[in-house]
Amino acid sequence: MRRTKRILLSPLLKRYKYYFDLLKKTTDEYLFLSDLQAGMVMLSPNFVQDFDVPGEVIADVGTYWSPLIHPEERAQYEAAMRSVHSAEGIYDYTAEYRVRTRKGEYVWLRTRGQVGTDLAGHPNLFAGVMTRMAKRNQADSVTGLLNKYQFEHGVKMALANYRATQQGGAIMVFGLDNFKIVNETYNRVMGDRVLKHVAKLVEQILPPQLTLYKLDGDEFAIIYPEATQEQIGELFESIQNCLARPQELDGHQYFTTASAGTVFYPRAGKDYLVLHKHAEAAMDLAKKDGKNRNCLFSKDQYNRWVRSIAMRDSIWDSVEQGCQGFSLFFQPQVDAASQRLIGAEALLRWQNPKGRMVAPMEFIPILEETKLIIPVGKWIFEEALRTCKRWRKVVPDFRMSVNMSYEQVKELSFKEFVEDCLQRYEMPPDSVILELTESKIVADWNFVNQQFNRFREKGIAIAMDDFGTGYSSLSSLKNLACDIVKIDREFVKKILENDFDRKLVKAVVSLCHSIGIKCCIEGVEQEAEYELLTKECHADSIQGYLFGHPESVTNFEEKFLAPLQADQAGA
Ligand code: C2E
Ligand code: CA
Ligand code: CA
Repeated sequence: MRRTKRILLSPLLKRYKYYFDLLKKTTDEYLFLSDLQAGMVMLSPNFVQDFDVPGEVIADVGTYWSPLIHPEERAQYEAAMRSVHSAEGIYDYTAEYRVRTRKGEYVWLRTRGQVGTDLAGHPNLFAGVMTRMAKRNQADSVTGLLNKYQFEHGVKMALANYRATQQGGAIMVFGLDNFKIVNETYNRVMGDRVLKHVAKLVEQILPPQLTLYKLDGDEFAIIYPEATQEQIGELFESIQNCLARPQELDGHQYFTTASAGTVFYPRAGKDYLVLHKHAEAAMDLAKKDGKNRNCLFSKDQYNRWVRSIAMRDSIWDSVEQGCQGFSLFFQPQVDAASQRLIGAEALLRWQNPKGRMVAPMEFIPILEETKLIIPVGKWIFEEALRTCKRWRKVVPDFRMSVNMSYEQVKELSFKEFVEDCLQRYEMPPDSVILELTESKIVADWNFVNQQFNRFREKGIAIAMDDFGTGYSSLSSLKNLACDIVKIDREFVKKILENDFDRKLVKAVVSLCHSIGIKCCIEGVEQEAEYELLTKECHADSIQGYLFGHPESVTNFEEKFLAPLQADQAGA
């Protein structure tokens, strides 16, 4: 039964009633205006329609409103109202809680309000808007799991529980590695199916007392009260296991691993936003660390992560200022049999604004993530080609190797740029070799080969970099159209002690030769390694500290070209 009582407005509310009535007509939101000192509130008519309150003017709002609030949020609401009543000066109020409607279901409401004070500074007026949070009332539309708002609520409840019982716990956030590639290779519809499928797989292995939440994009989360580090390790392992094999889905195959970040509360924070931020940062680190792993949050690591964010800004500045701070170093490559200098690999260097040289491992992933590698890659190529032109005056068949990121392979304009550069500098296409790390090629062989062939048709050689570090080295040999394979130092390191590794290198070289591919061995540091690699394994060329470290242009010329010029002058 709806009760309607006529209540006389307090003088303060009477003063504002005219404005309030005008405002009511402008919006579908719930409006309220409260005289704090008289304990009286004026509500918009939709309040009375949707919630069990006796009328548009209520004398003691607390007795009606509080019981309608969900028990889980009631204490929090009452505490917030106490601070409204004791506010000093203008007070900005926001709150989110569930309220029972006349139909008996709970809906989420977000309240935004302002508290005003009288001349003596005592709070007298509280005005604001309440909005139904439609999104918050739904499950995640793709997976049907509880969504990020429910996750936020769950974390807040876990923290409230900690305050009551002193029992902490853990929060794990995980994302799918290479999910972007699934989306790019197929389409979003398939992407959504994969998310749904992963949700199902993970739910099956989840201990029954835990809930899987779906956050934005490809991210999921689990709140694990009272978890130990060991239990978290086991949980992640079982997630890894259920994703370990390629999955069949509607006639398509997909394969994805997961990277996770875990925070323990209250150690890592006692606030939802802080915990979520720290878990995301830990997950980001897990991805940077090679993916398919769980990273436990640590303050030290977090600070390093924050620094990498700062580095991102400095790198943007460098690029905007015409690649200032970037430079190229060059490492000599020699013919394996004769040890004659035949080329060099251009290696990017970056000096941060404080003058510190930053390692490529630290800044190249940032260039790739931000796609800044596209403009920087063009700068690298032009610098390298210009240098090659000069050095060809000393070594006429000098070949410059330039690294290329997968991001650049995808960018179709890079090839046009390369051709244009060769023309402008009047350089033949065989003066450059483009290197691509094979471990980065995970998705689409056809596409990569098509791109490679566009270069190769023009006479520009392609090298497969870091052979032996990827997942599928031998099959990539079969699938990838390239001219040169660069065998990684990982392989070379153990050849002196390990008979198997030696045989393996020998077999790979001979396999390459049988299909017309040349082999360059990287990371040769010792004379004995060199002997073995040339005499027994028949490598074509060598790059390593034994023949020279990466050097600046000036030092390279001094160390490696000046002696040749002297010889030439003497001859
Ligand atoms: P990478 O392409 O495999 O380059 C070879 C790396 O091995 C270089 O490290 C080089 O200094 C190091 N190295 C060479 N000889 C030896 C040796 O005998 N022993 C040992 N221990 N190391 C040796 P650097 O310059 O730190 O570069 C690291 C990686 O950064 C490169 O690996 C490449 O993946 C990336 N990178 C460097 N410059 C560029 C660039 O211009 N573009 C792109 N996309 N990536 C680049
Ligand atoms: Ca390389
Ligand atoms: Ca390499």
